[in-house]
Parts: sequence; structure tokens; C-alpha cells
Amino acid sequence: MTAVSLQLLRVGACRHLECMSARGGRWTPVEFPALCGLIRHPERGWLLYDTGYAGHFFAATDAWPERLYRVALPVELPAAEILQTQLAGFGLSPSDIGTVIVSHYHGDHIAGLRDFPNARFIALSADTEHFTALAGKRWRATFGGHLPNLLPGDYLERVADADACPKRNLPDWLAPFEIGFDLLGDSSLLGVPLPGHSLGQLGLFIPDAHGRPTFLVADACWSLPALRDGRLPSRLALHVNAQRRHFVETFNGLSCIARRETVVAVLPSHCTAAWQEFRDDS
Ligand SMILES: [Zn+2]
Repeated sequence: MTAVSLQLLRVGACRHLECMSARGGRWTPVEFPALCGLIRHPERGWLLYDTGYAGHFFAATDAWPERLYRVALPVELPAAEILQTQLAGFGLSPSDIGTVIVSHYHGDHIAGLRDFPNARFIALSADTEHFTALAGKRWRATFGGHLPNLLPGDYLERVADADACPKRNLPDWLAPFEIGFDLLGDSSLLGVPLPGHSLGQLGLFIPDAHGRPTFLVADACWSLPALRDGRLPSRLALHVNAQRRHFVETFNGLSCIARRETVVAVLPSHCTAAWQEFRDDS
């Protein structure tokens, strides 16, 4: 099995009530970091899983109604957290990124896509179709957390469907998740549908990341401690999900894995505790 390396980078953050991410949480605003994965594959080079925030996010939310997004979820992107700055710390320029795997099309996950001129993109077809159909429907897009202006102009020529990749059986111990899409053809990166938050949210299971199985789960949950406790997001927060019933099913499946398979690093996109735990263990 091909092993890859994985760094988890914090690229900006927004503030929201803690109780939105998990029942029993405080009615206090807390930071929700936007995390992205920087992956090095021994033959395929450098890839990203999402991009977090970028300057494009502020441009895309300058006008109304898109500004509602920024008002509802105030965003901070300190200079040191800008993705290009962090990539430079690894000796990389944006043109070194060959692939960006898109978990889903919310602004906090795709704001930097325009910054990677050589990248091809991989996403689940249902999400790509839903997102591109929102072009010109500004209110509907904004209320769904979508900012179509964030896409590069040639995006549709550069995106591939994850669900067109060969299917692989996932390890039995990853049940109830059974099937992954072999994104690079060598079973090193397996795209796993995590339905509910969006129509086609794409998780990423890495069988061997620095010798450890790792599961990047995007917004299938927002707090690793809550996932381990089986505490769902607040009822209000459940309404931001495209398909609530599927969200709960996906959440419950991940909750079983987080409790049962403690060797697996389960990494939500917005959980500071998971980020710190992963960095401490790496
Ligand atoms: Zn998100």
C-alpha cells in the first residue's frame, strides 16, 4: 500500500456559538478553524483536501446578498494563516499543487481554488451539479453557504468526478462505510461519500498517512469530542444541512468509528481539538 504524508493546516477561522456544533455546548461564540489537508504522495506530488478561506472569500462577500454570509459567520484570516504563505514554509508555490480534492462547495472549503493554476479538481458529481446550477441564483446560493464566484473560470474543464473513479471495498472495521472511490488508482486516497451536509459531500480515507489510518470527514461533524460522545449538533444547526436524515446517519456511523477504532485519526474540518490532537500525535 502506498503511504502518503499529511499535514493539517489552519487557514482562517470563523466565530459561532459553541452550542451550534454540539448539544450541551456553551452559548458562547468560539472559533471554528477552517482546516485543510496538505498531502504528499511519493509519485503524484502535492495535493490538497480543500483550501480553507482565502482573500477571494472577502471579495465574493463584499456585495449584498452575499455579504449576509460574512455577517452571519465573521471570518478572520491572519496573514500567517494564508495558504500560500504556509505552502511557502514547505518550499512550495501554488503551481506545485497538482490536485485539489473538494469535500463540498461551501465557501469556507473552496475559497482558495482560484489560487492553484495547475491543479485539477476532484469532487462528487452530485455536489458539482448542484453548485454549478446555482450560478445567477444569488439569494438561494447565499442562504446555502455557496458563493459561485469563488470558482476558477475554467473549473468545469478541470474538475473530475470522484464517483467515476474505480470503487474499492473499505476495510471491514470502517463499517458502516463500505465503499470508497480510488482517487489516484493506487488505493492511497479513497474518497468516501458522506451524505447529508451537502448533496455529495466527499470524505477522504487515507489508509496509511505516516503509518496511521486517517479519515478526513469535512463537515459531517463539527466537533471530535462531541462525535466521541455521540452528541449531535444543535437542532437549529441541523437545519443548515441539505439532508438532515442523511446527516444524522452519517454522523452516527462516524461516531461508532471514533469510539470503536481509536487508532483512526478522524478529522473534521472545523474542530480545534482534533487539529491539536493530530499535530501532537504526528
Ligand atoms: Zn465548513
